Amino acid sequence: MFGKRFKLFKLLGFEVGIDWSWIIIAILIAWSLSTGLFPSYYKDLSAQMYWIMGIVGAAGLFLSIIVHEFSHSLVARRYGIPIKGITLFIFGGVAQMEEEPPSPKAEFMMAIVGPLSSIAIALILYGIYLSGKQGGLPVPVNGVVGYLAMINGILAGFNLLPAFPLDGGRVLRSILWGVKKNLKWATRVSSWIGSGFGILLIVLGVVNVLRGNFIGGMWWFLIGMFLNGAAKSSYQQLITRKALEGEPVRRFMKTDPVTVPASISLKELVEDYIYRYHYKMFPVMVNSKLVGCITTKQLRDVPREEWDQKKVRDMAIQCSPENTIESKEDAMKALSKMKATGVSRLMVVEGGHLVGVISLKDILELLSLKVELEE
Ligand SMILES: [Zn+2]
Repeated sequence: MFGKRFKLFKLLGFEVGIDWSWIIIAILIAWSLSTGLFPSYYKDLSAQMYWIMGIVGAAGLFLSIIVHEFSHSLVARRYGIPIKGITLFIFGGVAQMEEEPPSPKAEFMMAIVGPLSSIAIALILYGIYLSGKQGGLPVPVNGVVGYLAMINGILAGFNLLPAFPLDGGRVLRSILWGVKKNLKWATRVSSWIGSGFGILLIVLGVVNVLRGNFIGGMWWFLIGMFLNGAAKSSYQQLITRKALEGEPVRRFMKTDPVTVPASISLKELVEDYIYRYHYKMFPVMVNSKLVGCITTKQLRDVPREEWDQKKVRDMAIQCSPENTIESKEDAMKALSKMKATGVSRLMVVEGGHLVGVISLKDILELLSLKVELEE
């Protein structure tokens, strides 16, 4: 779902991005506000004015969600949990956490602050709306303010549902975790409840569609599907994390990796290495010193006629934190790195020397064995 994410801006050290799905939603929101909600509440304004109100309303919703997610991210940072960035997607925002919270208290604070900030925005805007109504604010401005007060209230309410991984579900998990001191159990119980809510919404959606409320029903249905999926994958994610944490990359890597000299041509690379070993990435060496790597993906961009003249040296990507990992690091870290960069193989180094290669496949194989043996 986060595949088509693109960056918008960086604020307080957090990168804010949006998923393409959000653009479609933003247009739908602006459209339904300017043709439905605003004309029904505020009569006798021009069509143009309704559109301006709709667009400003959608932009305000966008800002509200960003504030909500920023509050999560700031509290997370206070507890030392790295946040990769904030992404707005079809059902709101997600602050992308890279690790589980360190304690029930950290999780509780981090989860509750989001709805609280939405409630605060709602109350402030509602105050402005009320005083604006008594005079002062023009009707269109007040209309948008009133809408934003309401939508922030809804945002807080929806997120407070005790359906993991929504904020309310995280609050529930932190309480269960604090009581029983068992994160795995707390996650399992809260994700059951979360997916239960998801199924309930799916059923309500179907009932609504059957009764003729197609658009509303579809919304319930989609949100239910999303919630159900998210609850299940959050639990799997935790199991993965528990199994991989504290396991050094050294245990998962393949030692004695096949390396290629920087001096050979791309044609030689393809014939003597890629077709022979079927790997997607090869570390590149100059006099037994690691200089970088070359991937099959890069070869696709070079026309076949040039494979003879071009050398591996010309194409190799330099070693960087994106394609290398220290052998003593957690396997979980390797996995998050692969997820973040979309690369499925990393070079494993010890003090600048190549000691192995770790692939997604190796990690997953060992992981499934571990989970099977330990469950
Ligand atoms: Zn939230």
